Amino acid sequence: MSKAIQLDGAEGGGQMLRTALTLAMITGQPFRMTNIRGGRPRPGLMRQHLTCVRAACEISDGTADGAEIGSTELVFRAGKVRHSSYHFAIGTAGSTGLLFQTLMPALAAAGGESTVVLEGGTHNPQAPPFEFLDQVFLPAMRRMGFDVSLTLDQTGFAPAGGGRIIAQIRPSGQPNAYFQRERGDSLGRSITVISRGVKQQVAERMISSARGILGWDEGSIDVRDQGPGSGICILVGQTFESGMELCSAFGEMGTMAEAVGTRAAKAMRDFIGCGAPVGRHLADQLLLPMALAGSGEFRTMSPDRHVPTNIAVIERFLPVAFTITEDVRGTRIIGCGPR
Ligand code: AMP
Repeated sequence: MSKAIQLDGAEGGGQMLRTALTLAMITGQPFRMTNIRGGRPRPGLMRQHLTCVRAACEISDGTADGAEIGSTELVFRAGKVRHSSYHFAIGTAGSTGLLFQTLMPALAAAGGESTVVLEGGTHNPQAPPFEFLDQVFLPAMRRMGFDVSLTLDQTGFAPAGGGRIIAQIRPSGQPNAYFQRERGDSLGRSITVISRGVKQQVAERMISSARGILGWDEGSIDVRDQGPGSGICILVGQTFESGMELCSAFGEMGTMAEAVGTRAAKAMRDFIGCGAPVGRHLADQLLLPMALAGSGEFRTMSPDRHVPTNIAVIERFLPVAFTITEDVRGTRIIGCGPR
C-alpha cells in the first residue's frame, strides 16, 4: 500500500481538502491532512466538507479516518472510482457547486457515464453560484475536453438550503491543455438579480447601484419563489470571445442593497480594467484540471490566497510545476508544465 502524502491544511480552506480528495481519487495516492481549514475562523471539517469526504468515499470505494464534524485531521484512501447514479444531500445549505467540482474530474475519468444529484445550497456566499458553474466554469472545462452538463432543479439560498442540481458526467480521456492569454472582443453583458422572498425594491436598488458604477443600462430580476427560506444575489456578467466572467454578491442582514450591487459591479470593473481573460475565481478553479492535462497557461488578475495553497497540494500529487509571472497592468501569467 503506498505511503500517505502528508499535507498541512494550516494555510488554506476547504479547497485544499477538496483538491486533495479529487487527486487522491484520480491518482490512487492516499493522503493525511492535518490542521484542516486551519486558516479559517472555525477550523476543522464542517458539514459541507464532510459531505465531500463521504461522497469521495462512496464514488471511489474509499476509506476516511477522522471524518467527523470539527475534525482537523483526516486520512483518506481511495479505491477505484465507479461511474454510476449518485445522490448526495449536504444536509445544510453547504455548496452543491463545490461538491460537484470535487467529484467531477474523478467521475469523468471513470470510463462510463454518471448522473449525480446534489442537494444543499446552490447560491452561497464564498462559493461559485450555479450560474458561475454553468456559464463560466463549464465552458472552460468543455474546452479542455470534459463532457459535462449541469441542470438547476431547485434554487437553494443559504442558510435555508433546499436546492438541487443534477450533473451528467460523461467519460472523457486525458484533458486538453488550456491556453488563454487574450480575452478578445466583448460579445455582451448582463446584470441579473436572483431573489426569493425579498421585496422587488431591494433588487431594483442593487441593479441601479451596479449600473451606476459600470455605466451600463442592463438589468433584470429573476424571482425564484419555489423553495425554502429567502435570499437575494446579484450577478454581473460580461462575455468576451475567450469566455464569460460573472461577478456575484449576496444580500445579507444589515448590509444595504446598494453596497451589495456596488461590490459585484466593482469586481466586474476591476476585471474589465485588468484586461485578462480569466477572473480571480476561475483562476484557482482551473489549476487542477490544467494540471491533469499536464500543461497549460492563462493570464489572470493578481491571484488571491487560493492559488498558492491549491498549487502546493497539486504539486504533491502530480508531476507538474506551476509558474506565476507578472505581466502587464498587474496581471499574472499562470503556467503549468511537466516537472
Ligand atoms: P474555500 O474558500 O477554500 O472553501 O474555496 C472556495 C472556492 O469557491 C474557491 O474555488 C473560490 O474561487 C470559489 N468562489 C468563492 N466565491 C466565488 C464567487 N463569487 N464566484 C465564483 N467562485 C467563487
